[in-house]
Amino acid sequence: MNVLVINCGSSSLKYQLINSDSEEVLAKGLCERIGIDGRLVYQKTGLDKEITEAPMPTHKQAIQMVLDALVNPKTGAVASLDEIDAVGHRVVHGGEKFASSTVLTDDVLQTIEACNDLAPLHNPANLIGINACKELMPNTPMVGVFDTAFHQTMPKKAYLYGLPYEYYEKYGVRRYGFHGTSHSFVSKKAAEFLGMDLNNSKIIVAHLGNGASISAVLNGKCVDTSMGLTPLEGLVMGTRSGDVDPSILEFIAEKENLTLPEVMDVLNKKSGVQGMSGVSSDFRDLEDAYNAGNERAIDACEVFAYRVAKYIGSYVAAMNGVDAIAFTAGIGENTSFIREKIIAYLGYLGITLDKEANKVRGEERIISTPDSKTIAVVIPTNEELAICRETVALVS
Ligand code: ADP
Repeated sequence: MNVLVINCGSSSLKYQLINSDSEEVLAKGLCERIGIDGRLVYQKTGLDKEITEAPMPTHKQAIQMVLDALVNPKTGAVASLDEIDAVGHRVVHGGEKFASSTVLTDDVLQTIEACNDLAPLHNPANLIGINACKELMPNTPMVGVFDTAFHQTMPKKAYLYGLPYEYYEKYGVRRYGFHGTSHSFVSKKAAEFLGMDLNNSKIIVAHLGNGASISAVLNGKCVDTSMGLTPLEGLVMGTRSGDVDPSILEFIAEKENLTLPEVMDVLNKKSGVQGMSGVSSDFRDLEDAYNAGNERAIDACEVFAYRVAKYIGSYVAAMNGVDAIAFTAGIGENTSFIREKIIAYLGYLGITLDKEANKVRGEERIISTPDSKTIAVVIPTNEELAICRETVALVS
C-alpha cells in the first residue's frame, strides 16, 4: 500500500510518499511560503531534488502541486492518484479526545476543531491541510495521527497542575505532552533493538531537536513527559525557554514594557539556547562557538545538558528505575558532545559512556560500555514512518 504522509503547518507543508510493504520512501519534499509566494521542493528517491517557484495562495494549491509532482510522467513516483491508497496526517493537538490515531470522518474533524484553542498555531493549519486533501482526493481514506495521543496514558498525578481544579474542568488546562509519535516509535524501537520485552521495561526517551521533550515510558506506556499544555514547558530548547518561574513573565513585562503576548513571544522565539548564547539555536553553530571558548555558548550548552539530566533523574524516580535511555532527534542523534555532557551526570545509574561508540551519528547504536548497569542508546526517530504505520493499521 502507498501512503502519503502530510505534516501541514501554517505556511509550509512536508510530505512523504511511503510504500508501506517495503517501508521505502518513494518521494518526499515540502512546500514553503504558502500564502506568500510559493516554493515546491520535490525529490523522487534516487533522483535529484527539483525546486519549483510557483504561486501557492492556499494549501489547496500547494497540495495540488504535490499531487501533480507525484504523478508527473517523467519524475513522478506513481502512475496515477489511484495508486495512493491512504493519507496520514500529523495533527498536533487531540486534547483528551484522542488517545490513538483515528480515521478522519466529519465528526472527527469537528472534534479536532474543538481542540483548536489548545493549539491555535498548529491545529487550524493541520485542518486546512486535511480539508484540502479531502477535496482533491475525496475517495482516499485519511487518518489523523496526534502528537498528544501517546501521552494520554499518563496518570492524573502526572498531568494535573497545581492550579484551581476548575481550570482543568472548564478549559482542559493540564499536561498533554507533544512529540508523542516520536516517543512511541523510539521507545518501541529501543526495546526491539536492545532485545528487551517492551511490556516489562523502563525506558526514558530524550527527543532532543529544535523542540525538545523527554518522556518516561513504563512497560510501553507513557507515564510522564516534559512538555505541558503547550510545547513551551520542560527542557531548554532552540528558541523556547522551557521551565521558568511563572513570576518572570510579569517581572519582564513590567521592566521591558511588554504586553503578555509579547512576553510569550520572547519565551517561544527569543529564548532557549539562542537567547542565552546570542549565537544560534543550532547546535552545530553552538558547538563551534563552544570550542572557540565563547562563554555564553558554553553556558547555554551546560544549561541545556543539565536540564536534560535533571529530567532524567526525575523520571528515574517516577518509574522507580530505568533500563535504557534513548537519545533521538537532531541533537540526540548527532551531537556527541551534548550526549557526553548529559551522560556525565548519570554515574549514579551505573552508566559509563563508550566514547568511541558515542561518535555515532544518525544510526542505532549503544553508546554505554558493556558493563554499564543502564543502557544509553541512540535511536533515530522517523515520525513519517510511524504515521504511515498507524495509517495502514487503520485503513487495511
Ligand atoms: P526540529 O525537527 O524540532 O526542527 P531537529 O530534530 O531537526 O529539530 O533538530 C535540529 C537540531 O539538531 C539543531 O540544533 C541541529 O544543530 C542539530 N543537529 C546536529 N547535527 C545535525 C545533523 N547532522 N543534521 C541535522 N541536525 C543536526
